[in-house]
Amino acid sequence: MDLRLLPSTFGPDGSASSKQHLACIVINEAIAVDAGSLAMAASDEMRSRVRDVVLTHAHLDHIAGLPLFVDDLYAWLDVPIKIHALQEVIDVLERDIFNWSVFPRFSELSIGPGPAIEYRPITSGQAFSIADVTFHAFASEHKVPSAGYLITDGASTVAISGDTATLDGLGESLSTVKDLKALIVECAFPDELTQIAETSYHMTPATLAEHLNKLKPGCPIYVCNIKPSYRDKVVSQLASLNISGLEIMSVGKTYSW
Ligand SMILES: [Zn+2]
Repeated sequence: MDLRLLPSTFGPDGSASSKQHLACIVINEAIAVDAGSLAMAASDEMRSRVRDVVLTHAHLDHIAGLPLFVDDLYAWLDVPIKIHALQEVIDVLERDIFNWSVFPRFSELSIGPGPAIEYRPITSGQAFSIADVTFHAFASEHKVPSAGYLITDGASTVAISGDTATLDGLGESLSTVKDLKALIVECAFPDELTQIAETSYHMTPATLAEHLNKLKPGCPIYVCNIKPSYRDKVVSQLASLNISGLEIMSVGKTYSW
């Protein structure tokens, strides 16, 4: 399984920056988990192959690139883009994004073989498959209805936490997994902003360490979704905790298992 965190910001010279405003991870160049920067950073191969988008939740930093991606492809799509998400997330997309005011309602626009987008409602605790990749959704603890995912291609399993204040939902799902290859986890705020992290249901280095200590995933841990303004502080606080196997996830790099 190949996995890549797409970039979403630019450095002073115009090249991709490690600061992350938007969330989008692409699996096997073909399945997007969240779509924050999907339209802006997808390679040509991804533009031609990604027809399934799996969403963790409906916050803007996770969906911003979705309407732009559909719009970009609309004229030459020959299959609908399938959006796999909790029903509450689908309801937000239809009510607040694809509502003809903010953007066209692509679920009503035909591309011939069907509408431009089709929704596939998912439920926490249930599994669904896209080609040869199976997703097992688990409940995240965030300000809005959210899911994380265990993702397996039969040979390897990785976990993506999504935005969350705890790893409790993941812990319950992990009992079924023997050999987790990687945990991709958020850590949005530095420790001095614990109050904001608690209010917005995100983690800090201290809370992440506490949950990892409880979870004991026994695999490499890749941290992403760090708020750009606090990136340096979060990186330095995580480094000082010396958590075995933990590193910051690099944007643009392909991770393979
Ligand atoms: Zn969020």
